[in-house]
Amino acid sequence: GFNCGIVGLPNVGKSTLFNALTKAGIAAENFPFCTIEPNTGVVPMPDPRLDALAAIVKPERVIPTSMEFVDIAGLVAGASKGEGLGNQFLANIRETDAIAHVVRCFEDENVIHVAGQVSPLDDIAIINTELALADLDSVEKALLRLTRQAKGGDKEAIAIKAVLEKIKPALDEGLPARSVGLDADERLLIKSFGFLTLKPTMYIANVAEDGFDNNPRLDAVRELAAGEGAVVVPICNKLEAEIAELDEDDKVAFLADLGMDEPGLNRVIRAGYGLLNLHTYFTAGVKEVRAWTIPVNCTAPKAAAVIHTDFEKGFIRAECIAYEDFIQYKGEAGTKEAGKWRLEGKDYIVKDGDVLHFRFNV
Ligand code: GDP
Repeated sequence: GFNCGIVGLPNVGKSTLFNALTKAGIAAENFPFCTIEPNTGVVPMPDPRLDALAAIVKPERVIPTSMEFVDIAGLVAGASKGEGLGNQFLANIRETDAIAHVVRCFEDENVIHVAGQVSPLDDIAIINTELALADLDSVEKALLRLTRQAKGGDKEAIAIKAVLEKIKPALDEGLPARSVGLDADERLLIKSFGFLTLKPTMYIANVAEDGFDNNPRLDAVRELAAGEGAVVVPICNKLEAEIAELDEDDKVAFLADLGMDEPGLNRVIRAGYGLLNLHTYFTAGVKEVRAWTIPVNCTAPKAAAVIHTDFEKGFIRAECIAYEDFIQYKGEAGTKEAGKWRLEGKDYIVKDGDVLHFRFNV
């Protein structure tokens, strides 16, 4: 699966967000094949298409796809120098696919701010500096080695060194490497370093209930994020925690009262999915209608591997129906009559929403 680490200064609302996400989440016992750490929540991906498919197929069960969120508490100034449990936290972040950086944009005199005042840009700078320093450390170590290899004429070393030298000035200033516009080739060259500040990042702006509009702090976060090509998700974590406590009926009524059509958490989950460039395809059998997560530009055999590696190894063909066709012609039989049912081979690039059935050799 794919995961997203939640980071931020102490007291900004990380745990509140994480708890709301896990309350909305799936119980660990429903995932028998993966070990789930206590600080990890598996959160279902809200997708109305799944319900539309289920209404046609009427399966025994419906299983959404999901995303993992990891609560990485305790990142403080000095972490890159081992302050607090610095190195451990940085190692935890390194293992995540994307970062959700929670920023406090709410005012509450009862909640102590570690720096004494609510200032999202200063807070972001503290965290980003720690992450940049950790990356800078790796860059400097690598450059020593690469400089030697480059002198010996090693072409790959020369190429990698050039990219590291391009991101180093930004890191020196405490800015994330993602603020340097690297192209796809350059990113690939330094992929194995797993730089923290190159991970796809979103800022979760934790605002007060009435803090979504005319909020200079939120605007400041938006401006900074735009400069880095990062996404901002404004949310009131406290409210989300309250929503997550309610049972389904109360939740619908409460959201309606607030003029919301779904919990704000859904935006966090979708943004995480978007950050990672993920797509969903469906399988739609009478036993189970289910959503599966794949990277964009994934071939049919690779998509099959998400279900089972045997599906990839023995892949013959994928029976394929576009989501819209499945809905319009009310299932497989109707789609076949309409001539919209396709057989696709191993080079087929699966599209978001495809309803697939794999044919494979055992
Ligand atoms: P963490 O240290 O980043 O995990 O922060 P917590 O989630 O533990 O939150 C710290 C304190 O801020 C707690 O007392 C929360 O109840 C409070 N808090 C979190 N989110 C909000 C919010 O949106 N509004 C207000 N007023 N308080 C919040």
